[in-house]
Amino acid sequence: MGLSEIKQRVHKAEAEAGRAPGSVTLIAVSKVQPDARVEAVLEEGHRTFGENRVQEAAGKWPGFRERFDGIDLHLIGPLQTNKARQAFDLFQAIHSVDRPKLAQTIARLAQEVGHCPDLFLQVNTGEENQKVGVLPADADAFVADCRALDLPVKGLMCIPPVDEEPSLHFALLAKMAARNDLSGLSMGMSGDFERAIALGATHIRVGSAIFGERDYG
Ligand SMILES: *Cc1c(COP(=O)(O)O)cnc(C)c1O
Repeated sequence: MGLSEIKQRVHKAEAEAGRAPGSVTLIAVSKVQPDARVEAVLEEGHRTFGENRVQEAAGKWPGFRERFDGIDLHLIGPLQTNKARQAFDLFQAIHSVDRPKLAQTIARLAQEVGHCPDLFLQVNTGEENQKVGVLPADADAFVADCRALDLPVKGLMCIPPVDEEPSLHFALLAKMAARNDLSGLSMGMSGDFERAIALGATHIRVGSAIFGERDYG
């Protein structure tokens, strides 16, 4: 695959869903990928990337930013409160706001530094023990709490259980976003982004389909 094929598939899925061209933001998930692969995608002109670890992003992206303008970096993995300040310096968006304590830390930092990344609240739609995110039943209250803290909440994010049809989870997330007047939906990965677009995704997080398999070895 690769970037251009994935972009074509995104455009096709937008058209089939009757959505405006360009209404879906493609986040190229570069975690664990060798620098050469990331650089190739930067050379192709892509500027929106996702990382799931603050530490890894801090080692990689300042260097790329010296060489490429306009990089838009999204944190898509869990954030510890003691890394929140570092995350503010690196990321334009955080997709993993998953608990009240983190929301409070972000609100305090936003006051201190005078700006805040765009925020997506993570919902554990599959109610899985091993996954982070607020439970569906708590989502509306969490949105309200974050708004009360004046946080820039753009939307909701989910990672469906691996063994279930993702569309059910995408539809559930879309319904929760709609009833909370949130326009952003961060959902869909390499294996299911077309289904996510059909159900309203505004931000898809695609890694291996663009860069190739990740080598954790
Ligand atoms: C790694 C990751 C992705 C990308 O997964 P692929 O299957 O490689 O597209 C998307 N979202 C999150 C939260 C991830 O951690």
